[in-house]
Amino acid sequence: MIIVLRSGATPQEIDEVTRRLKKLGFGVHISQGTERTIIGAIGDERGVNLEEKIGVLPFVERVIPILTPYKLTSREFREQDTVVRVNDVEIGPGRFVIIAGPCAVESESQVLETAFRVKEAGGKILRGGAFKPRTSPYSFQGLGEDGLKLLARAREVTGLPFVTEALGIEELPLVAEYADMIQIGARNMQNFRLLEAVGKLRKPVLLKRGMMNTIDEMLMSAEYILAQGNYQVVLCERGIRTFEPATRNTLDLSCVPIVKKKSHLPILVDPSHGTGRSDLVHSMSLAALAVGADGLLVEVHPNPVEALSDGPQSVTPEQFAALVKDLRRFAPLVGREM
Ligand code: PEP
Ligand code: MN
Repeated sequence: MIIVLRSGATPQEIDEVTRRLKKLGFGVHISQGTERTIIGAIGDERGVNLEEKIGVLPFVERVIPILTPYKLTSREFREQDTVVRVNDVEIGPGRFVIIAGPCAVESESQVLETAFRVKEAGGKILRGGAFKPRTSPYSFQGLGEDGLKLLARAREVTGLPFVTEALGIEELPLVAEYADMIQIGARNMQNFRLLEAVGKLRKPVLLKRGMMNTIDEMLMSAEYILAQGNYQVVLCERGIRTFEPATRNTLDLSCVPIVKKKSHLPILVDPSHGTGRSDLVHSMSLAALAVGADGLLVEVHPNPVEALSDGPQSVTPEQFAALVKDLRRFAPLVGREM
């Protein structure tokens, strides 16, 4: 249920509603809009008539049921777009933020060179996997903590914050110690214990859509994180499995405007995993900007042919710079700053 307070509700009145809801066993989430305060009451509504218990208070304007299965993630709960802050980089309305870097951290020279080139071209956040979710147990699994240290070194010398994936609950504290933003990968989108664990942290989360998951399932996964009190969540469309073999995945760009209708959370597009083909990254990135994405997650490697993972979908620093240059021409046309 959403409880909409009359405009100008005082802190005491907000406290009064909060107290009553908690007494009835509800979790309370407050959304302070420019005009109104909205209180989300999350819990078992069976046998409790909130209209009667809360709706009668003079400073309550309306009690509205949220019809979608996700509550805090829904537009109904929060009308304004959420802005997620990764250090001093803001992801949200009016901007187009590019996160770029190698699929996996391989060596100091590889990550530093990529970081410098990404920054020089206009990327705002560095990406790179230290713990890699590989299909084969015999493929390169990442450098682990040494990889995190190299990413931290790259941050030190370039000033770029970084996002990196946590594969499981066990390594989450370690990843959180180093990273500015924590990535939950496609294969873990429905690892509910991991979602709850990142929900308990106060660090931004990049939640990637599962390759076999619907948009609503992605929003339900985001709800797990928000329900723990962490509202700093950025979604990412990275392609889904279809019968089409020409691309690694089918990049579902219609997901972006649908998410914008259903949710207030920002959403990025990953054209690299979305297509699996470096030759498609440029065009699909421009398309992502056009459909209203809040930014990109792009794989860049100084020498894609030699990459230890995802070489075929990684662009070179030169291709990346050309892409950013092109995006900068189009961004103002759709009201986005870069
Ligand atoms: C990644 O971004 O490094 C990655 C492994 O992507 P996904 O989880 O979308 O496959
Ligand atoms: Mn990859």
